[in-house]
Amino acid sequence: MTIKEAQEAVDQWIKTYGVRYFSELTNMAVLTEEVGELARVIARKYGDQSFKAGEKENLGDEMADVLWVLLCLANQTGIDLTEELKKNIAKKTERDKQRHIQNEKLK
Ligand SMILES: [Mg+2]
Repeated sequence: MTIKEAQEAVDQWIKTYGVRYFSELTNMAVLTEEVGELARVIARKYGDQSFKAGEKENLGDEMADVLWVLLCLANQTGIDLTEELKKNIAKKTERDKQRHIQNEKLK
């Protein structure tokens, strides 16, 4: 699935089952909530916390939750994430192409 297809799939799902998009502000709050849920799983899996009884290690599902809400926000604000990611990669390449290679702490 391409990013464009993902944006279209989310849009179709919202129009079929979701009635309408939550407002941008609501989805920003939901995105923050989902990032927190992802952070909780990472804290338990890679950090010093342990899973509580009954908690699942659902790292991929939590990442998908974050992506879902981001795709919603892109759709409702008219952002083409394919184009934006291409531009962003080019920006990072131009800005950081030597920075990390020259960082002794990464060796
Ligand atoms: Mg979640």
